[in-house]
Amino acid sequence: MNPTSGLRARLAEAHRDQRVVDAVHLATWRKVEARADAMAGLRHYAALRDRAAQIRQHTLDHLPQYLEQFVERATALGATVHFAANADAACATVCDIAVSRGLKLAVKSKSMTTEEVHLNDALLAAGVRVVETDLGEFIVQIDRDRPSHIITPIIHKDRRQVARAMARELGCPYTEDPAEMTRIARQHLRDIFRRCDLGITGANFAVAETGTLCLVTNEGNGRMTVTRPRVHVALVGIEKIIPRLIDLPVILKLLARSSTGQPLGAYTTLITGPRREGDVDGPEELHIVLLDNGRSRILSGPFREVLRCVRCGACLNACPVYRNVGGHAYNSVYPGPIGSVLSPLLYGRPAEELPRASSLCGLCYQVCPVKIDIPRLLVQLRTATRARQPRGKRLLMRAWAWAMDRPWLYRLAQRLMRRLLPDDGTGWINRDNHLFRRPLRAWTAQRDLLRPPPQSFRELWKGGLGDER
Ligand code: SF4
Repeated sequence: MNPTSGLRARLAEAHRDQRVVDAVHLATWRKVEARADAMAGLRHYAALRDRAAQIRQHTLDHLPQYLEQFVERATALGATVHFAANADAACATVCDIAVSRGLKLAVKSKSMTTEEVHLNDALLAAGVRVVETDLGEFIVQIDRDRPSHIITPIIHKDRRQVARAMARELGCPYTEDPAEMTRIARQHLRDIFRRCDLGITGANFAVAETGTLCLVTNEGNGRMTVTRPRVHVALVGIEKIIPRLIDLPVILKLLARSSTGQPLGAYTTLITGPRREGDVDGPEELHIVLLDNGRSRILSGPFREVLRCVRCGACLNACPVYRNVGGHAYNSVYPGPIGSVLSPLLYGRPAEELPRASSLCGLCYQVCPVKIDIPRLLVQLRTATRARQPRGKRLLMRAWAWAMDRPWLYRLAQRLMRRLLPDDGTGWINRDNHLFRRPLRAWTAQRDLLRPPPQSFRELWKGGLGDER
């Protein structure tokens, strides 16, 4: 996919790739069902969700205070805390740590912040080899691809593609057996873990009260990345702070259920300072790089609620747009509904089209464990960039708003539509109908139009429906 083409071209290209559409559809649908089952079995789900949203919002409202507390606690435990104002500063800090200590081989656990700042490229340029150890990210790396989901990076690939990449890049026999493929990857990565000297992770949460980093993974690679190398660097967005250790279970109960339908991630690792005397493992040096990269700006503006996100991926799985095009069409590290809000705020103009890639159906809000009102934020972002929309479109929208404001005109339009639109008795107007030509084509190429019913709801109500109550 050409990343320089516009959003509409990217969406069309992605939608044409039936293999990707099928793979993404199947995988996301399974996750949607698993999430629904997991939440149905969770007592007090609504109360937990309210509490998780409150914790995250409270933290954002008092972020300077909690950041200060976290830095104080982590430093007292022996960690070195760095601040990075932007992506370049974050990369420079991590490269400096590696180069000044002569570190040559880094293992990396899955982390969105490191992808956001393109840390691998920077380390490579500084002479440090980086190996992704999350299985999905490992496949993406050896296949020179890009992740397309924040939790399931290779959701767009099928088994054959993975098997081909492994046989080609690792020189192993071709196999499509998942267990055998996992065994081969594990064997390869074990050797890397034996030789590495730098471990890089992000953090799901950073607890202010104790200076603890919390890492949730499913493959155990996060734990190996933390315990094996002698130097550990965690690149953590400043919004990942939570106030107290007791707040952690509230969010953890929702995180894995929202992501994959599991009650908890398979491994929840708490890192409280570097290795102490008597510890059997752990890094000799722990560096925590707190990344801003536009977060302070977002925090002080009207979109601050987006920083509550815990990166569970549920909104991606639920989104009908994401399910039909996959993640690459968004051309951002953060795809899907959360990406459509976060990317324009982080990257500005190149991503400002993304809020329009949504049907505003509201499913993303319904599944979000921290109650981020994504549809409202999308509309706000659309409004903020309205002035840069084509003039014709703006005029059309203004005329539409004017008409919607006048009930008599709305009723007249309804009557005219009922009379003028073709009626073949099915109640639908087929997408192949000659009415659907440019400029409506972009809307109608994938959809049939529901014909207005013979009577509107108001007419039914006036005609006695209301009396039946
Ligand atoms: S916006 Fe909500 S649902 Fe989407 S990834 Fe973030 S926490 Fe999960």
